[in-house]
Amino acid sequence: MTPRDYDVIVVGASFAGLAVARRLRGRVLLLDRNEVGSVQTSACGTPLWVPQRLGVEDSVLQVHDRLTIRTPTRSVSYDLSAVPFCTFDYKIFCRGLLAQSEARFLRTPVTGIEEGAVVTGEGRFRAPVVVDCSGWRRALVKERGPEPDARAHSFGLEARTELDDEGLSFWLDHRLIPNGLGWVFPVGEGSLIGLGSYLGRPKLKPALDRFLRDCGAEASSYHGTYFPNRLWRPTTGRLFAVGDAAGQCLPLTAEGIRPAIYFGAECGRLIQRVLDGRLTLEAALDGYRRLVERYRAAYRVLEWAQWLAAHAPTRWLAVISDLAARHPFLPRWWPRYGWFGRFDHDVVPATQ
Ligand SMILES: Cc1cc2nc3c(=O)[nH]c(=O)nc-3n(C[C@H](O)[C@H](O)[C@H](O)COP(=O)(O)OP(=O)(O)OC[C@H]3O[C@@H](n4cnc5c(N)ncnc54)[C@H](O)[C@@H]3O)c2cc1C
Repeated sequence: MTPRDYDVIVVGASFAGLAVARRLRGRVLLLDRNEVGSVQTSACGTPLWVPQRLGVEDSVLQVHDRLTIRTPTRSVSYDLSAVPFCTFDYKIFCRGLLAQSEARFLRTPVTGIEEGAVVTGEGRFRAPVVVDCSGWRRALVKERGPEPDARAHSFGLEARTELDDEGLSFWLDHRLIPNGLGWVFPVGEGSLIGLGSYLGRPKLKPALDRFLRDCGAEASSYHGTYFPNRLWRPTTGRLFAVGDAAGQCLPLTAEGIRPAIYFGAECGRLIQRVLDGRLTLEAALDGYRRLVERYRAAYRVLEWAQWLAAHAPTRWLAVISDLAARHPFLPRWWPRYGWFGRFDHDVVPATQ
């Protein structure tokens, strides 16, 4: 054994990687090409219970108990109070999770895996367990498995603005963006305003600038990237994949934080059992695969709903959104959706 050997190597230190790492005790190496919490790609909206359960409630910027869906013909207001949403500060959230982990963090790019070693800008590192949490780029698993279908990615671009709190809202308007959606996410001071293309079209800036003008807002900065809308393989050979690297971002709503944290926590729990000698690596890989497969049907329903949102006439979407906001429908589907990924066992991190 060399000093470079670890029990587990986790590639990517955002939502998925931190969720895995905080469940682990042992010699864990956490790798990312950026400092933890320094490169935000997301609007950071999630149910309030997520930061609360993870012990990073101090990251919450604003709580939202209403959501408005806007279409060209009507606006529908949803009561979210059964499971309120929040927007949070990415850096505080991620640094809070890192502080709960025993892992050694190293800032370095990962270029692949060769002869069982993870190849980085700082040299090669080995571990019996390797987890790819590198997001849609799939730094490790892309070399080992088939590439996902090109249509399996959406693209989102958003702008940070000083727009005052006008409430959490989604826009389904094909004039604003065909085959996609727009959003305004208030974040305490100012709002993030964005557009997402379900077809993965990346050139959204001109349309986003028009949207900003319509909202009376000006961008102080932009960020964006691809995110998956199709569930892929959670394991490839002896590698685990979690979060966007496994296509776990939810289709339609583009919510990827919760699934990354939920599947990351479960993956970390299984790996810890391997480290404790209570499970073989093969059994852990199989257990993780079976856990993810249990959700495949739910992902298919959301894929179908996303197809409808991308292709149906907006007047149909107006009628569907209106119905979904009413009794008896809302109390049936919203808590079910809002509590997805609830991790009761995860309140206390592994290291406390
Ligand atoms: C504009 C936009 C808005 C969004 N808004 C929301 C939202 O409000 N709520 C929500 O739930 N989801 C949202 N999403 C989706 C969400 O951001 C992703 O699903 C989520 O970030 C996935 O987490 P992850 O940890 O799997 O991957 P990521 O957050 O992408 O993290 C991957 C990490 O791996 C690192 N990395 C990548 N390649 C390498 C490499 N080769 N070497 C070393 N490190 C590497 C990266 O630096 C990064 O830190 C949004 C997405 C976009 C694009």
